[in-house]
Amino acid sequence: MFLDIHELERHPLDFEEEFQPDVIDLGGEARQRTPLKASGHAELVEEHHGKHKVIKDIRLRGRLTAGFELQCARCLEPVSQEIARDFELLYRPLGADAGRDELSVTDAEAEIGYYQGDGLLLEDVLREQVVLAAPLKAICREDCRGLCPHCGRNLNLEQCTCAEPIEDPRWEALKGLREKLDSK
Ligand SMILES: [Zn+2]
Ligand SMILES: [Zn+2]
Repeated sequence: MFLDIHELERHPLDFEEEFQPDVIDLGGEARQRTPLKASGHAELVEEHHGKHKVIKDIRLRGRLTAGFELQCARCLEPVSQEIARDFELLYRPLGADAGRDELSVTDAEAEIGYYQGDGLLLEDVLREQVVLAAPLKAICREDCRGLCPHCGRNLNLEQCTCAEPIEDPRWEALKGLREKLDSK
């Protein structure tokens, strides 16, 4: 869905969109499992600079939800996670801030981005928001025992024999010495 600045000039826009998994490429290891739902409101905000210059910003407010599948950081089994994120964003025309340090719109709540040309793609906005909302790491459960570092078995499912304490080679040396002394 393209948010066109000329359309927004005429009226604000409410959106309610649903994206099937794989419509938005998220990259990385997170896989989208359920449709991404996004709803919100887009409107034009005009900034007046001096007498003649008007800068047209796009303000976007909304909420998104989606189900994801990640890998457990310990045992590598799939973990399902729901994410939900409210966003409030302000997009300024690219170049609007060139040569200026300070922004005239000080909207502490809004994150500021830039749009190019006639507007911006809602999909691009959502991709960015999803990436921000997605957890970097997931654990299938608090007491996940992970994989055995020696044999790679999933210790939640089975025990392996590697877990037995390995004797310290220094003690081995002493034991050898004692045996030698004892045999004398
Ligand atoms: Zn796990
Ligand atoms: Zn093992």
